[in-house]
Amino acid sequence: AAPWNDPGAKPLIRFEGVSKRFGDFVAVDQVDLAIHKGEFFSLLGASGCGKTTLLRMLAGFETPTEGRIFIDGVDMSAVPPYERPVNMMFQSYALFPHMTVEANIAFGLKQDRLPQPVITDRTKAVLDLVQMGKFATRKPHQLSGGQRQRVALARALAKEPKVLLLDEPLGALDKKLREATQLELVNIQDRVGVTFVMVTHDQEEAMTMSSRIGVMNSGRIAQVGTPVDIYEYPESRFVADFIGAANMFEASVRQSGTDQVVVNCPELAHDLIIAHNDMLPEGTPVTVMVRPEKVAISRDKPAEGLNWAQGVVADIAYLGDVSIFHVRLESGHRIEALQTNLRHTDERKLTWEDPVYLSWHPANALVLTK
Ligand code: ATP
Repeated sequence: AAPWNDPGAKPLIRFEGVSKRFGDFVAVDQVDLAIHKGEFFSLLGASGCGKTTLLRMLAGFETPTEGRIFIDGVDMSAVPPYERPVNMMFQSYALFPHMTVEANIAFGLKQDRLPQPVITDRTKAVLDLVQMGKFATRKPHQLSGGQRQRVALARALAKEPKVLLLDEPLGALDKKLREATQLELVNIQDRVGVTFVMVTHDQEEAMTMSSRIGVMNSGRIAQVGTPVDIYEYPESRFVADFIGAANMFEASVRQSGTDQVVVNCPELAHDLIIAHNDMLPEGTPVTVMVRPEKVAISRDKPAEGLNWAQGVVADIAYLGDVSIFHVRLESGHRIEALQTNLRHTDERKLTWEDPVYLSWHPANALVLTK
């Protein structure tokens, strides 16, 4: 099992009640967080939620107003940035323009007074790691944006930190290059085994790259989990809404059992049955969440035992691989359903104003109480 699934495993990084205030403004609010050795951990959140501040406190560039940060069991409070076993990967524009690629990498190692043979070996090893060996004698302006990014990564890894910090590392790259670089970065992380902590506002990026994600909201950690946890089992309306697309309905509990709950949902004209393990008192206000890809759309009445709703097609967005249908219910509420566009379909294509049924399995919806 991965160490982050093992409650007994000792984390490499631990935040304990960490807060940061700038004057009256609370940028980071009582964060408790454990990150394990070998993780690719992402801090994900909207602009201003405090993720960069949290990362900078780990690096030692900011001092917590409250709380403590431990790395490998050592309290970092009195440890200056350059003595911490962490290194920050800066954007590629932080490379020295007048130095060659290899000189850029060797620079920090020389400052650390490492012997020349070690410097030479390490420089070569990290350049090979990022597949930039051939470009060792070029200067940054003779490289593409993606290549410069790799050099920046090599420079950060050359110091062999226990933890590598990355703040929006792919922000400067265009979409295609970004997607390719995401997989490459994960691959490199996997090979070197260094713990990566990345800040991003891009949920797809976080989902693609991370072992676990910490979703942040207004200085707090809203939820920590694997990409699957965060997407399939969000614990709050905020996380459900922030990650991916979500259909949400306000409802109230009618009946609660040991493995399912029946809720009344005014917008849907009838009750829903949802798989749920906690007993909820009758009348509890809840939000029902179902992802668009879990909603089937059909002309015919769905099978017994499924949750369903009736409406008309209000909008269709054709995205090539999938189409997104917006279905308007009688209440005026809209439900989004996603369909994969298969190659051979004989059925008559759905079009605007077609009457349709929507349906989903009780296990494919969630009841949220927070
Ligand atoms: P972004 O993605 O936009 O960088 P973020 O989630 O990384 O956002 P932070 O940079 O951590 O956010 O900033 C969190 C909040 O703290 C913001 O509202 C910011 O304005 C504020 N803040 C950050 N640094 C300072 C500072 N030195 N002085 C005052 N306020 C600050």
